[in-house]
Amino acid sequence: NPPLEILSRVLKKNGASVKDVKKGECVAYWMRMEDLRIVDNRALSRASSKAQQDSVPLIVLFVISPQDYKAHDRGARRIDFMLRNVALLKESLSELHIPLHTVSISPRKSIPSKVISLLQEWRASGLYANISYEVDELRRDIQTCELGTKKGMRCVFVQDRLIIDPGILKTKEGKVYSVYSPWQRQWLDTLNQNLDWLSEAPAPQANNSEVRQSKTFGKLFDSPVPEFVEGYQCEAEDGKNMTEFWPAGTEAASQMLDRFLNTKARKSQIGEVSPLTEGAESSAKQNRISEYAEGRNRVDLDTSSRLSPYLTSGVISARECVRRTMTFLKAKQVKGDRGSGVGMWVQEIAWRDFYNHILAAAPRVSMGRPYHEKYANVKWETSEKHFQAWKEGRTGVPIVDAAMRQMNVFGWMHNRCRMIVAMYLTKDLMIDWRLGERYFSQNLLDGDLASNNGGWQWAASTGTDAQPYFRVFNPVSQSMKCDPDGAYLRRYVTELAKVKGKEIHDPSPDTADAHRYPRKLVDHKEARERALRRYKEPGSL
Ligand code: FAD
Repeated sequence: NPPLEILSRVLKKNGASVKDVKKGECVAYWMRMEDLRIVDNRALSRASSKAQQDSVPLIVLFVISPQDYKAHDRGARRIDFMLRNVALLKESLSELHIPLHTVSISPRKSIPSKVISLLQEWRASGLYANISYEVDELRRDIQTCELGTKKGMRCVFVQDRLIIDPGILKTKEGKVYSVYSPWQRQWLDTLNQNLDWLSEAPAPQANNSEVRQSKTFGKLFDSPVPEFVEGYQCEAEDGKNMTEFWPAGTEAASQMLDRFLNTKARKSQIGEVSPLTEGAESSAKQNRISEYAEGRNRVDLDTSSRLSPYLTSGVISARECVRRTMTFLKAKQVKGDRGSGVGMWVQEIAWRDFYNHILAAAPRVSMGRPYHEKYANVKWETSEKHFQAWKEGRTGVPIVDAAMRQMNVFGWMHNRCRMIVAMYLTKDLMIDWRLGERYFSQNLLDGDLASNNGGWQWAASTGTDAQPYFRVFNPVSQSMKCDPDGAYLRRYVTELAKVKGKEIHDPSPDTADAHRYPRKLVDHKEARERALRRYKEPGSL
């Protein structure tokens, strides 16, 4: 049984057995690394109203778990972003007299017992949290809830991460969807019939200021948020860049969204300044979102929202993004068609839901298994030299190299480029998608298990792409379409900055040598044929 279903049963059992749980001395909300916000946060909101009802303080707990970061291939950038956000949240919550307490727990299997003991120490009557869909986290929550039930504690774990919760959308035959388009049509219809699912969760109310004098809770206000987690410290220069490029906090996320809705796209400065300071010029008629349907695949312009780090860490809610599109259009229904910029953008937010639904229904995908099991035996190449060149942006294919260098510097990569580099690694170099997935997770600020895995399996044709394995991108023609003047290539592949015209997309061996740029690692045509052979008969050479 998928662990999400087990958790639902355990939660129900908890609800039944602790119906008349006694009022304790506090109510606790366990904030996770995917819900780093105060506004529009369902579990926090529910915990706050319970605390108000019982006239006890609300306490926020944040668990640091280095072993989980390792198991999920989290990178230092993501952990640094998390801590920067937690530090800001601590300040904002403190203004409401709500303490945020961070605790580091190792090994991770002891998290459930340590959390419940801490809650017992605090004499908490209830534990509130938003549900995470990753398998390890679900197992952790099942154990926590079972332990909480034994100790007579109310455990309320709610769905908050997505617009539509996993398990709701089913095919006519009652099955889980495995293809995006029909799923998305149902997603949109269902949402428009249940617009209250988009409602903003009420903000938490302030604790009584007396909590600051409490013997148990007063000291929690002073405990500092650690500046780094051992083993997850950014290099000094990189940490400085990340702080500048990607400021923490809901206000920064909200500004990023405003900018997407209210300013037009400009030649991208990415890699040098924060997306917040780029393209500051405002134009009521031209804005990124209206042009998104045509512009979203242009990698030389900053046409997309760049909200992914904030959405992944829950600094802004997906509901907020969709609500803002309705306000933008002054519409009473959600627009989610492919024909308009707004509709197209909402479809991207839906992709995020889709991949989380896949993860919840087929947890094997997060355990290194292909979504389509028949591709479990595809024969991969093991060239460390090729893999290293891909990672460093030295493959001799400028669009691949520019994109990889962009991620290495900026912690983010354009969606079109993610598809190109993933397809190149898995089809041209024939290197296992799991290695690429891992490298992405370690370097992206928005590294998210469901979307990253979904994107990699899509590119490697082991996942939910409706087209079969013979979709193999030609990186050169992709490059010409998504960066017509080569501006993006020149920005990142500086060796080729002086190469004129279209040759920048596909430099000849002489041009490459003359500019000290690597020659191509493989011939695309031959590599494509090899990939087709291997996918056609997985397991064969
Ligand atoms: P916008 O175009 O403005 O889209 C708005 C939001 O919609 C994004 O912030 C994101 O939350 C969501 N979204 C957009 N496209 C997708 C998509 N294809 N799948 C799921 N959600 C989407 N996205 C991540 O958030 N984390 C990842 O680790 C991640 N890894 C990826 C790996 C591969 C191989 C591929 C092909 C895609 C991956 N994506 C991932 C999806 C997508 O590339 C990014 O979400 C997008 O580029 C972020 O930029 P943006 O915020 O400007 O997006």
